[in-house]
Amino acid sequence: MRPAKMTPAHHTDRLAELVCSNSFKSVELTNAHGLLKAEMRRLGSVVLQAADEARVPGGAALAVDRDVFAAAVHRRVAQHHNVTVVRGEATALPAPGIVATGPLTSEALSVAIACPNCQFVGMEAKRTKEGGGGITLKCLKCAFEMPGTEGGAAEPAA
Ligand SMILES: Cc1cc2nc3c(=O)[nH]c(=O)nc-3n(C[C@H](O)[C@H](O)[C@H](O)COP(=O)(O)OP(=O)(O)OC[C@H]3O[C@@H](n4cnc5c(N)ncnc54)[C@H](O)[C@@H]3O)c2cc1C
Repeated sequence: MRPAKMTPAHHTDRLAELVCSNSFKSVELTNAHGLLKAEMRRLGSVVLQAADEARVPGGAALAVDRDVFAAAVHRRVAQHHNVTVVRGEATALPAPGIVATGPLTSEALSVAIACPNCQFVGMEAKRTKEGGGGITLKCLKCAFEMPGTEGGAAEPAA
């Protein structure tokens, strides 16, 4: 989406721009933070490759220079032969598709995925019949139910 449309916290057009702490917490294998990173490293995580490239002194924590980190992730993702970066604001749910717009999801998409009854953003999907039938979306706040599609895009009830 950025830079076509910015968020209140981001300042650049880079993927993986950190808007908060520059620490990815511990690298020690005696806690969950360190173990998760060790497993990600074994799986060839581009995020951890970039973090290692951008690492600054932080004791047992993996702290990074945020500009170097974002540039390194951006370069790896943009140059990946299986990835096409499309800059633009999604204003509706793709079906099928995966949405990972985070805590700063733009207003237009927030409105599109909000409960039509109470405007809360958070739906539980469930099958209407065991092993078949359609999908029903249920609001996690007010329990309003509406039909969905297999791909996940909501179809507001008439
Ligand atoms: C101000 C602030 C401070 C924070 N501080 C900390 C902290 O100190 N420590 C910590 O652990 N966590 C912190 N967090 C939380 C952390 O940033 C998030 O948990 C994390 O970024 C979520 O990752 P994500 O990939 O889900 O979303 P994001 O990293 O937010 O990525 C989502 C991307 O989707 C884009 N996008 C949004 N809407 C659309 C749309 N309609 N179409 C296309 N693209 C869209 C956004 O521009 C963004 O680039 C903070 C969050 C904020 C907002």
